[in-house]
Amino acid sequence: MSESTTLLDQEDELKSFITHFGKMDSVYLNGNSLGRMPLKTLEVIQEVTANEWQNGLISSWYSKWLKRPAAIAAKVAALINADEDEVFVGDSTSIQLYKLIFGALQLYPDRNEIIIDDLNFPTDYYILNGIIQQSFQQHTVHTINSADKIHGNESGLLSAISGTTALVYLSHVAYKSAYMYDMTRINAQAEAMGALTLWDLSHSAGAVPVDVKASHTNMAVGCLYKYLNGGPGAPAFLYVKKELQDQLLNPIMGWFGHKAPFAFDPAFDPNPGIQKYAVGTPGILSLSAVGPGLDLILEAGISRLRKKSLHMSSYFIGQYHQRLQSKGYSLISPEDVEKRGSHVSLAHDKADVIYHQLTHPDADHKAVICDFRPPNLLRFGLAPLYNSFSEIEYCIRRLEEIAL
Ligand SMILES: *Cc1c(COP(=O)(O)O)cnc(C)c1O
Repeated sequence: MSESTTLLDQEDELKSFITHFGKMDSVYLNGNSLGRMPLKTLEVIQEVTANEWQNGLISSWYSKWLKRPAAIAAKVAALINADEDEVFVGDSTSIQLYKLIFGALQLYPDRNEIIIDDLNFPTDYYILNGIIQQSFQQHTVHTINSADKIHGNESGLLSAISGTTALVYLSHVAYKSAYMYDMTRINAQAEAMGALTLWDLSHSAGAVPVDVKASHTNMAVGCLYKYLNGGPGAPAFLYVKKELQDQLLNPIMGWFGHKAPFAFDPAFDPNPGIQKYAVGTPGILSLSAVGPGLDLILEAGISRLRKKSLHMSSYFIGQYHQRLQSKGYSLISPEDVEKRGSHVSLAHDKADVIYHQLTHPDADHKAVICDFRPPNLLRFGLAPLYNSFSEIEYCIRRLEEIAL
């Protein structure tokens, strides 16, 4: 551990949050894939199973569980500056994308173009292309390519949005490079052209500031199991601004999206509000488990989290220039802090070997847990809630040693 990172850790105003997770033997830099478990989650799961389920059984639906999805949605709303009745939590990110894309394409039958980029997450393309094949074969997808596969082509996107655009559909922060778009700018152009916008916030929520109101966002989705520490396969969130809610349909019409689910009416009559996006019975165990992670992020506050995250990634990139660049690594993330999310990606010809040594070290070293995307990419998630500067220094040292 170098002196300078010890000092940075001492001065870290979020340093006490590690106590909510507990210390680890290894260095965990994968919070952008699966966040750590807050210790409180153990207590919550114990309470939900042993008390609410085992003892309360069906009565817990009325006393506790039916209210829980909205209570969790309210926490997400606070995080992205939405109103409480603009967020629904449930299902997976992929399914939330399906509901919103289908509804958006159906709303404007006269506009048949969808604008995307080439930096998005695979499921985002799969869901879109599946919908087009199955139900919207007249639609075309216009892909705006990135010149270097790191930075989004923002000006290309802006000039591509036209009067025939139905939907502009992007990840706010790219999962590979961590490039971050200017949501406000793209939303403004889409709004001027009468097109809808859908943002995937999976790599932003809990890591970078998102303000759906100030940025005039129409629709968004996001994961709760990455920076929000909600647990493996945690339910995902969806945001639809109020003015759009009764215009958009949810194509998956299940009983929890009915205006009166407990009237058991055989005819479907959708809830006009955000509750229309519910499909079936909410998964109460996994839903309950996301509470503690959201509470910690809200308590830390997104501006403090962002400040520390940028400090960490700038430190990482500074060390990369000094110590790693000459050892065959290349930076696959933006240098510009304004354009960077909360992870750093490095490419190396021997990334597979390096990854194996990082994660399976000899007895004298700690494991460094990062993410490997074949063929040559290593991603380092920097979670400001629980990662320290000393951990980053350790990771850099290992990357330097291993590449010798
Ligand atoms: C992680 C991630 C997803 C994951 O989708 P699931 O359906 O929750 O598995 C989707 N989109 C992006 C951009 C992601 O980073």
